[in-house]
Amino acid sequence: MLAELDVAIIGAGVIGLAIANEIAQQEREVFVFEKNRTFGLETSSRNSEIIHAGIYYPEDSLKAKFCVEGKELLYELCDKHGIGYKRLGKVIVAINENEVAQLDNTYEQGRENGVDDLLLLSQAEIKKLEPNIEGKVGLFSPSTGVLDSYSLLRFLHGQARERGARFVFNTEVIGIEKTGTKYKVQIRDREGISTFISKVVVNVAGLSADKVAQFAGLDILKAGYKLHYCKGEYFSLGSRNRVFVSRPIYPVPGKAGLGIHVTPGLDGRIRLGPDARYVDSMDYRVDEAQKEVFYDAVKGFLPTVEFEDLEPEFAGIRPKLQAPGETFLDFVIAHEEKAGFPGLINLIGMESPGLTASPAIARHVRKLVDEILN
Ligand SMILES: Cc1cc2nc3c(=O)[nH]c(=O)nc-3n(C[C@H](O)[C@H](O)[C@H](O)COP(=O)(O)OP(=O)(O)OC[C@H]3O[C@@H](n4cnc5c(N)ncnc54)[C@H](O)[C@@H]3O)c2cc1C
Repeated sequence: MLAELDVAIIGAGVIGLAIANEIAQQEREVFVFEKNRTFGLETSSRNSEIIHAGIYYPEDSLKAKFCVEGKELLYELCDKHGIGYKRLGKVIVAINENEVAQLDNTYEQGRENGVDDLLLLSQAEIKKLEPNIEGKVGLFSPSTGVLDSYSLLRFLHGQARERGARFVFNTEVIGIEKTGTKYKVQIRDREGISTFISKVVVNVAGLSADKVAQFAGLDILKAGYKLHYCKGEYFSLGSRNRVFVSRPIYPVPGKAGLGIHVTPGLDGRIRLGPDARYVDSMDYRVDEAQKEVFYDAVKGFLPTVEFEDLEPEFAGIRPKLQAPGETFLDFVIAHEEKAGFPGLINLIGMESPGLTASPAIARHVRKLVDEILN
């Protein structure tokens, strides 16, 4: 007889772990299938580790809602369980008149999203906070923080296990088939191919979430689920006094990302990035030729930086729903009942602020699972 589960979660990134941890509280039979040897080896460990305030996204979007809620839940979780973070705040700087107008819009957007602690800064106020930073006008977000993301991942995995969730690593989901009111989940591990039966399937497979949705038989083009890869590279700076900043410093946001920012890590190391370039393949190497682009991007607001300070560090890849040139698209978090797949929950396009939003997304998905199973 085939093993039967209540919930099969596909993917052990931060969102999959948060969902497993949330659902496992309810004494359900929860399995997490992960193709890598352990949790969090993809986008969840290749990002800026910023706890975002929720400023940028259109009001009423899931990104705004779950970011603002997730931020508070994450700070609580960190305090309660000793997960490393620093609530440093951040400054967004406008360096010319065009950017000043854009920054005003960002300020308004943030307030509409419920981020009510934002402060506009004059040139002198920027200097007082950050002596090495130049800007005409600044926007200070006190509730932004920097997180030790590995310690969050480790905590979520540990607590989910204690609560009874089972993690199956080195195991790739290769097929999903609807059978009556349940799903056959086909997996491949070192021993070969085998099958589980599950009442609910949660697809939180990050960069492969569109392909996993397709396994189940969804028409991903029609549903608008096709993902585009958008690479973000990072360079680190030598810890020299002339580039010292005490909190994340951002430019006004770009089209595909938030703009190359300067972030002091919890270890004191200063990092530049990420940029945003659409790519066809998953190649995490940092292209040294981009050094000039990074230098030019930050020189305007961090004039003390020297070209030779920059060293290639690492890269991440955003699972984007929007194709190059397209405007904002929201997270997809969908129970696919109307598409003919009751019990299948897809999470697609889980780019930034997915790390910040993860605890709020997990609560939302738990409610969807409760509706299905109760
Ligand atoms: C450059 C960059 C910077 C970012 N900065 C921030 C930030 O500062 N703040 C913030 O809040 N967010 C940030 N993000 C976003 C954040 O990192 C993501 O939203 C989050 O990590 C997504 O988590 P996830 O669990 O959905 O995906 P992932 O971490 O990608 O996990 C998905 C998992 O699914 C597994 N998987 C895939 N297919 C299968 C299969 N068939 N079978 C089994 N397992 C499978 C993968 O191996 C992977 O482990 C950033 C992202 C990028 C790329």
